[in-house]
Amino acid sequence: MTVTDQEQMAVTPDARPPGASQGIVGIDIGGTKIAGLLVDESGTIVTRASVAAPASEGGDAMADAAATLVRDLVARASARLVAVGVGAAGVVDHATGTIRAASATFVGWAGFPLADALSSRLSVPVSVENDVNAFLLGEVAADRRADDVLGVMLGTGVGGAVIIDGRLRHGPHGAAGEIGHTPGYSDLVCTCGQVGHLETLASGTSIARRYSERVGDAVEDARTVAERARSGDPIAVEVFASAGRAVALACASAATLLDLPRAIVGGGVSEAWDLLAPAIEQTLRTDSPVSGLPLVIAPARLGADAVALGAIEAARRILVTAGERS
Ligand SMILES: [Zn+2]
Repeated sequence: MTVTDQEQMAVTPDARPPGASQGIVGIDIGGTKIAGLLVDESGTIVTRASVAAPASEGGDAMADAAATLVRDLVARASARLVAVGVGAAGVVDHATGTIRAASATFVGWAGFPLADALSSRLSVPVSVENDVNAFLLGEVAADRRADDVLGVMLGTGVGGAVIIDGRLRHGPHGAAGEIGHTPGYSDLVCTCGQVGHLETLASGTSIARRYSERVGDAVEDARTVAERARSGDPIAVEVFASAGRAVALACASAATLLDLPRAIVGGGVSEAWDLLAPAIEQTLRTDSPVSGLPLVIAPARLGADAVALGAIEAARRILVTAGERS
């Protein structure tokens, strides 16, 4: 939605009883699940819920499901909804809240005006960020350190985000920080069709696939590989070491290019930090930024809540901007 719309929203009569506490809802829209949580004015999580994502049914079905989830959270918290923040999979035009591009899982998602669709359903300002950008905003807000930091999300794929001078950098196409699709890490074909990207070694899908190729036995997910590594399977240990080394090299390249002192690594694969950390530390000993200052690569702290909490942070920022303009 545009700022003009937000200003109009600000004078919309409020149907909720006076005295109800203000709530902001953050939602994390993925290919299988829409997860949401409501925070009060102090930022405390009051309630949370999730629903299945009807990703194959089109943008309006997704917006309906998300809006129903928001209404449910607001009713449970007896709160007065003031804004909604969304972290959504896909390339997002954050200025308009429209999805620019998305994977094939999402039918009718590319081009869908998600912020407008949700704000017309819920009558509040809605901000939409890419989910990895939201993840990094959430982690940085939790740290209370709005500095220069790289975010890397090791999930089904590998996503990235960059905050410089305390601000998310989106780039002219909303694709800044997409570190998963930087080349030079292997000779394997990536999900995007190109060769050698970071994602071919470091995503959950790739970790399962690389291990399965080596042992000749189809393993379903990275979690199973992690369990085997912890019980002493040397091939499983090596697959995680390859992932850790590739992540560290990617972080070192980004840190050198942008003078970033810190990288935060999240997503499901980062739960196996014990298996990634040795290779990360070893790599940083030989491949460090030219600044001479040590690069810190740390695991994310908020777990599955990071995207929704970061989306709330983005929503707060549009409320502040709207307030300053009125
Ligand atoms: Zn790729």
